Amino acid sequence: MPTTPHPRPPARRTRRPRRTVRLLLGLLLAGGAALATAPAATAGSQDAGRAAATIVTSTGRVGNSVAFTFDDGPGQNTGQMLDVLRRHNVKAVFCLWGDHVRQNPDMVRRIVADGHVLCNHSMTHADMGGWPADRIRSDLQATNDAIRSAAPGATVTYFRAPYGNWGQAADVAAQMGMVPLGWRADIGDWQPPGADALTQRLRERITQGAVILMHDGGGDRSQTVTAVDRVIPEFRNRGWSFDLPAR
Ligand SMILES: [Zn+2]
Repeated sequence: MPTTPHPRPPARRTRRPRRTVRLLLGLLLAGGAALATAPAATAGSQDAGRAAATIVTSTGRVGNSVAFTFDDGPGQNTGQMLDVLRRHNVKAVFCLWGDHVRQNPDMVRRIVADGHVLCNHSMTHADMGGWPADRIRSDLQATNDAIRSAAPGATVTYFRAPYGNWGQAADVAAQMGMVPLGWRADIGDWQPPGADALTQRLRERITQGAVILMHDGGGDRSQTVTAVDRVIPEFRNRGWSFDLPAR
């Protein structure tokens, strides 16, 4: 999508905003007592920061269960992804980008009609890690309004922060009745490396209970469509179920 900056989620190990790191360094210099007030570290997950609301990263089921989530759409490959999911009878979560919702309202209706679950992914995919709560709330509300303008009465179950940079967004989303949705693994499909490589990454990164982050929007996601189409029957034949994230 030439007019839209390519959304590149940060590497999984660099969740904490630099601003927060500087704050922590300042607190360290100020003395050990200040550490008691420092934000809690959340090593190994993308939900760094001050969020008190729980950020869901699993299906909430034991055993061979995985949840597929698709971000940044609706986009040029969303229809193909819906075809694939329908053929395999898999329900997934679509994290919708408000501006793209306005451009593709028909596709939002199709996502809902096919029985998938909606997730608010903000209006413009801005990094809201440093935003005050009021600004986050109005953006999330505008996004839900856009979604419901496209698909009247639609339920928006989840919210996912752009770039996984949560700041206060998890708390605000929870206050608005949406479940903050993180992920356990992504497949790096924002820089498509070829359908074979994506297929292999998906095979390797599906683990028990994992929420997997992929993309149906924000660019050419045809390789992701191919990888999903290949991997679903492989895992289903081995007894895996395709579920929704916990809520
Ligand atoms: Zn995104």
